[in-house]
Amino acid sequence: MNLHEYQARALLKAVGIPMFEGDVASTPTEAEAIARRIGGTVVIKAQVHAGGRGKAGGVKLARNPSEAMDEAAQILGMTIKGLTVHKVLVVPAAEIATESYVGLIMDRETQRPVFMVSSAGGVDIEEVAAKTPEKIVRLPVDPTYGLFPHQALRLAFVLYRDFGQVKATARIMEQLYTAFLGNGASLAEINPLVTTPDGKVLALDAKIVIDDNELFWRPDLGVLRDDSAEEPSEAAARRANLSFIKLDGDVGCVVNGAGLAMATMDLVKYYGGEPANFLDIGGSSSPEKVINALKIITADRNVKAILFNIFGGITRTDDVANGIVAATRQFQVNVPIVIRLTGTNEVEAIRILEGVGMRALSDMDQAVQQVVELARGAA
Ligand code: GDP
Ligand code: MN
Repeated sequence: MNLHEYQARALLKAVGIPMFEGDVASTPTEAEAIARRIGGTVVIKAQVHAGGRGKAGGVKLARNPSEAMDEAAQILGMTIKGLTVHKVLVVPAAEIATESYVGLIMDRETQRPVFMVSSAGGVDIEEVAAKTPEKIVRLPVDPTYGLFPHQALRLAFVLYRDFGQVKATARIMEQLYTAFLGNGASLAEINPLVTTPDGKVLALDAKIVIDDNELFWRPDLGVLRDDSAEEPSEAAARRANLSFIKLDGDVGCVVNGAGLAMATMDLVKYYGGEPANFLDIGGSSSPEKVINALKIITADRNVKAILFNIFGGITRTDDVANGIVAATRQFQVNVPIVIRLTGTNEVEAIRILEGVGMRALSDMDQAVQQVVELARGAA
């Protein structure tokens, strides 16, 4: 789950990382009022789940409340990387002497949190990573012990020479590690971490991604989710309790079990097709789940054919069959459906489907080949 900058800032502030206090606005007038309250020059920042807002014109300085209103009017409603800006953050502007990058990610390879720091921070860190990766220093942390003080100092020395700044920054590294672990993050990033002309160290931007698997026992974080900033089909699937990931192909897949769903996608590719989604309707699938799944998949205009691949164990194949029949009664499905089912109550399931003139296959290869051909024929 992605957080907006203003939400990530609150989590970083809570652990003591030095940042200016700002506020969010949904209208230019609100932005003006916040700028007036702050006084002096402010920064108006688009709140969208995308990096590179600065380059896209989504981060602007405003010297007074009336400029703040004008800039907010420009930024609100603009689209950055396909996402519409609904809110802006208004914060006091900092004077910048240097810009650095500090990031902390959960790294699969080392299976540890890994710090990445670079004195070449600011808006072009992706370019630094691509062209001069040696300018980014990496440090894996053993979660059993946490971040040692000497490690925090070493990271800080990568960025600064002045010992006052180094000590302040080492503290920020420790605080960032605390926020990362405490909030079940898979990524926490400060870019830029700046020094001011009078020597202070400040975080000017914050990005946090929370691991979705952590949300079950962190309901306080779950409420930070912004549905309007997500892929609509994925948000709908989450509300319907389905594990769903949208992909770019044209073969819609409805499968029970994550392993079978992966195998099905592999087989679709093997026979020359492209899956339109990953979808696991789960173990005990009620007809309701099948209806929701079909609604979500048919809403994707790329989908040319749909494959049901159901292995009945705990899942009763007659439940799934009833779901398919109910769904096709509730709304028009305009693409062909290929059904493969086998296992618990399959005789009953086949009878239900045949009752409405549908057919079910029992062989997985055959079903996948058929749906790939149908999708290709329609394309
Ligand atoms: P991003 O482009 O989405 O990462 O947005 P950032 O919040 O990182 O802002 C982009 C750039 O705008 C920063 O790297 C700074 O150069 C500049 N910027 C952001 N906040 C301030 C500020 O308070 N004062 C000044 N002078 N520049 C700022
Ligand atoms: Mn940034």
